[in-house]
Amino acid sequence: MKKKIIRTRFAPSPTGYLHIGGLRTALYSYALAKHSGGKFYLRIDDTDKKREVAGAREKIFEILKLFRISWDEKPVVQSERVKTGVYERAAMSLIRSGHAFYCNCPPRNVKESGVPKVLRDPCRNKNLSSGAIKLMVPEGKEIEFYDFVMDRKVSWNSSEVADTILLKSDGFPTYHLAVVVDDHEMGITHVIRGVEWLSSTPIHLLVYDYLGIEAPLIGHISSILDPSGGKLSKRKGNVAVEQFLEEGYLPEAIINFVILLGWSPKDNRELFTLEEFVEAFDIKGLQKSNPIFNKDKLDWFNGYYIRKKSDGELLHLLKPFVTNVFDESLMSRIIPLVKERLTKLSDFENLAGFFFAFRKPAPNLFGKNYKLHLQEALKVISQLEDFNLDSLNEGLMRAVKMNNFKTGDFFMDLRVAIAGSKITPPINESMVILGKEETVKRLKYALYEI
Ligand code: GLU
Repeated sequence: MKKKIIRTRFAPSPTGYLHIGGLRTALYSYALAKHSGGKFYLRIDDTDKKREVAGAREKIFEILKLFRISWDEKPVVQSERVKTGVYERAAMSLIRSGHAFYCNCPPRNVKESGVPKVLRDPCRNKNLSSGAIKLMVPEGKEIEFYDFVMDRKVSWNSSEVADTILLKSDGFPTYHLAVVVDDHEMGITHVIRGVEWLSSTPIHLLVYDYLGIEAPLIGHISSILDPSGGKLSKRKGNVAVEQFLEEGYLPEAIINFVILLGWSPKDNRELFTLEEFVEAFDIKGLQKSNPIFNKDKLDWFNGYYIRKKSDGELLHLLKPFVTNVFDESLMSRIIPLVKERLTKLSDFENLAGFFFAFRKPAPNLFGKNYKLHLQEALKVISQLEDFNLDSLNEGLMRAVKMNNFKTGDFFMDLRVAIAGSKITPPINESMVILGKEETVKRLKYALYEI
């Protein structure tokens, strides 16, 4: 018998930015399908028009493309499918089979957890002929499925499940109906989604059952935790993929980091491109425990991928992060000096801004012998006819020895005078780039104007 190909989908709602957890769902779904040559689809779940944010859909497309997560065929857009009547037909067939009813109640009180207080709707026995269409949840029925991510059976008693709206009175389906109808029509074989959707699953399973269609395999991935405890959230720090990109994290680093936020390979390998992840992907590697968002790890990946870039590539990548006039030849001389020290592209400004504009050093950054140090440095530099790295290294080291300075203290004061900071690229190399005139000017400023 021919083996059924794996078909997965990523189905974001365009209600805001793409969450790092959303990117993870997309990645795992993509890898699950592509590992065995299957299909990966993109669906925009936009039936809740009130919550839609303008531009969010385009942003999702843009970000997925940037990460090279490509989808098969055209994206399916639920709001466009409303006109075709698919959702209405499904809801009507449930009415006819007695598994749904019309309801005219105002929206129900919903507790904070999202679980309605009243599980059984008063309209269920009224035989109304118009209004919203709700699922008629049976009493005392065991609803069970095998979660292929958690690798266990999960079950509910239907008495815990609420009569839930499937089709609103404006003709738009809710998520619960649309997800079933569309996953079925798209031939989805495996659904991977966040564990926050687990409580919706019994509703979907009932709808599948009542529509007489087979449910796909469903797996829920565990929530990403903040290192301070609790779920990763906007309140505790950044969670938007877009914002990480704006801060100067490279897509390669973000993707590598996210791959390992809930999945681990058989060996201890840590470095993955998207293609390598697809190749290595195995459902068994999906973790059941909650991964912790370790920012240091992300920083490590980012530094690693920055250092893998050629200087030319970095020149291009750094462009949006340079606030001063972008001088290409100056940039090409600075980049080799800062490459080793960048964690994020946005560090560039802090680390190398002094090349473009003078930064007054804060007096408290200097050591106690700074005047002596700077005087000697100024003497050496002013006398240098050929201002190059060798002559500078040699002249300054001679001054350090002759005056019995501590090398570290001497160069630290030089850093502060030249760059206004204790953390700089190699300082002698930096002075050569700045040129003799500017270097002398800055030393004099630190000596006489502070
Ligand atoms: N539209 C839902 C979301 O925003 C999809 C959940 C699911 O994958 O079923 O995540």
